[in-house]
Amino acid sequence: MKLKLYNTLTREKEEFIPLMEDPNYKWEKKDFVWMYSCWPTVYYTPHIGNLRASFSADLIRNTLKYFWYPVKAVMNITDVWHLVSDADDWEDKLEKWAKRDGISAWEVAKRYEEIFMRGLEDMNIEKFDVMPRATEHIKEQIELVKLLEEKGYTYEVPWDWIYMDTSKVDDYWKLIWPNYKKRLEELKAWERVDMKGKKNATDFALWKFSMVKGKREMERDSPWWVGFPWWHIECSAMSSKYLGEQFDIHHWGSDHITIHHPNEIAQAECWFGKKPRVKYWIHNEFLQVDWGKMSKSLWNFYSLEDIKARGYSPLDLRYFYFKAQYWNFQNFTWEALDQAKSERKGLIKKINSILESNEEGENINWKEKFQEALADNINTPKLLSELHIALAKWWKYAIDAIKELEDKILKIGLFAWELSEENQVPEDIIVLAEERKKAKSEKNYALADEIREKIKDKWWLVKDNKEWYELQKI
Ligand code: AMP
Ligand code: ZN
Repeated sequence: MKLKLYNTLTREKEEFIPLMEDPNYKWEKKDFVWMYSCWPTVYYTPHIGNLRASFSADLIRNTLKYFWYPVKAVMNITDVWHLVSDADDWEDKLEKWAKRDGISAWEVAKRYEEIFMRGLEDMNIEKFDVMPRATEHIKEQIELVKLLEEKGYTYEVPWDWIYMDTSKVDDYWKLIWPNYKKRLEELKAWERVDMKGKKNATDFALWKFSMVKGKREMERDSPWWVGFPWWHIECSAMSSKYLGEQFDIHHWGSDHITIHHPNEIAQAECWFGKKPRVKYWIHNEFLQVDWGKMSKSLWNFYSLEDIKARGYSPLDLRYFYFKAQYWNFQNFTWEALDQAKSERKGLIKKINSILESNEEGENINWKEKFQEALADNINTPKLLSELHIALAKWWKYAIDAIKELEDKILKIGLFAWELSEENQVPEDIIVLAEERKKAKSEKNYALADEIREKIKDKWWLVKDNKEWYELQKI
């Protein structure tokens, strides 16, 4: 079965042929499918939108493995240089929070990195193979800027910036192309405000000189002047170091299609002189809240802790993410999370009852069905619907395929009876409920009703669904 992925570079769903299998790839043989995801920023606790980006990275990696590919995945940690805004006199968010909390900027980055890593663990997102920190690769970033300078692609705005001259990049627009007019208009609007010494609207910074009073905690020496690498160069420096001159997949949020990713391509292709830098560009779409933007002023800016505080498991959120395809917007509401929680609970219960039953059902190749859904640009809503079908008829035959799917893709605790204490059904109630189910299947309805009353006396309600029953505490 052929895996198809939507490639932003070609605007098409394409059959995935990794460099290791690509007859047109003439360079040194690759042993792995290499994939790079840009960054979780570590100047605040990640919100559930940020987590959707990490979830998508996990999903792409796991899908490739499910299709048998050996994969190495890299996720950058941007622990440096986050401007509050251009108007803020170049104040850095890390330094701003550090002042507020009376600690160093390094400690702020460390604190939020730990929170981020704990979040990944809670969400059953395995660590990525390499998770390099931007601050530990300043040397590589400076090297890259120096090389671009030697090749004549840069110019300096004295005491201010080193810029990349995009007029020397003949295909700068290739990732943006259907939207290039819109992007150009945006740039022209900014241009009217301030070109900051740029020659062309699309030129972007490689190095920013530190020009404020007093020493900045995170500033570095460079061949030009003390300062900071600008935020595009870190990805190119780290992806080059760990993935080489060309690699298979570059992924991150759709907000980077028009600025950051074209800049990453321009830098690396001019540096190495090899095209394409990356074969497949994959972008996840944004998570919205009540069909709008997440924003602090609307109080709809939720973290994993907020989710847990309202009694949800991080795995309910994980299941919720599966309900939309990664390339579409997804709308978050508490009702939708509630729905996800009860569906997940239903699946866990269903699996438990199947494991206890002897009914084998129809012998269907369920793995193929699951792969078919994933092959269609990782269509997770379709995947879930196949899963529900597989379970709906007590098909024990499906269990092995579901177990593999759970271990490799879903990771939502399907086989772990991990409902919270208060929802845990006591053993004697389960025994009674099972006796009742047997009585019903033998059409002994009088006995079934009698047992229902016994269960009620013990403060539990038994409710019949189409195929199984549900127990609820009174
Ligand atoms: P930030 O530090 O807020 O810029 O976020 C880091 C990355 O998370 C961004 O580059 C986005 O690609 C991604 N991101 C931010 N907000 C959302 C959202 N609501 N949904 C999905 N991804 C998001
Ligand atoms: Zn990047």
